[in-house]
Amino acid sequence: MSLAPETIRKSIEALLNLQEIDAQLFKLRNEEKVLPPEMAQLKAKLDEAQKAYRGYDRTFKELDRERRALELRTLTLQEDLKRAEVKRREVRNTKEEFAANKEFEAFQKKVAEIAKTLEDRQKATQEKQQIRDEKQKVVESLEADLKAADIKRSERIQEIHQQIKALEDKRHDFIGQVDEEVFSIYERVQKIRSGNGIAYVKGLMCSGCFVSIPPQLALMLDKMDSVITCPSCSRILYPANDANSSTAA
Ligand SMILES: [Zn+2]
Repeated sequence: MSLAPETIRKSIEALLNLQEIDAQLFKLRNEEKVLPPEMAQLKAKLDEAQKAYRGYDRTFKELDRERRALELRTLTLQEDLKRAEVKRREVRNTKEEFAANKEFEAFQKKVAEIAKTLEDRQKATQEKQQIRDEKQKVVESLEADLKAADIKRSERIQEIHQQIKALEDKRHDFIGQVDEEVFSIYERVQKIRSGNGIAYVKGLMCSGCFVSIPPQLALMLDKMDSVITCPSCSRILYPANDANSSTAA
């Protein structure tokens, strides 16, 4: 595309300002889109803590069910024991007495066994309950942390929106100073190059992609009568000595 050198010079100057804005816009939009690593980490920790809590809760509930079943079994056995005791008092001869005693002792032994098992279960249940409660506290604390981080994030997002709005207004002013066709080339490239659509050339190298450009392109670049783009990255090129190259890396 053929243009007056003055138009190209002016456009490039404005594009360099635009590029600074677009790089900031790109960063802000990225920050808006991507969850901060500390939040992602917090979420992963919470997931893990919830999983641990559920595991202990399940074990606790199983043990508690067993404990209640044993308590019921104890009640039944105690009834059996009472009946055996009554029977023992109603014996009519030694043979019956012997049998009744034997039955009573057998029930007594069972009651003692169950009592021992029950005691073990109660202890185990209590232990699991304690661990489960500790895990619950961890979950609650992480939930609170995440909630706080969420609030902070929402505030930051609002800030980002305001900054984007301000930059877009500023951007609009510079767009007016760029030749329309030059701008459309720039706009296409910056969208795919992280807000970076223009690059200087120094020693035949594009500062945007660090690939060498053909010497004849460099000659055309010096003439400033057409818009030259990098054959490798498509960025609009300008000679390093022609504008402030330090802002366009
Ligand atoms: Zn390039």
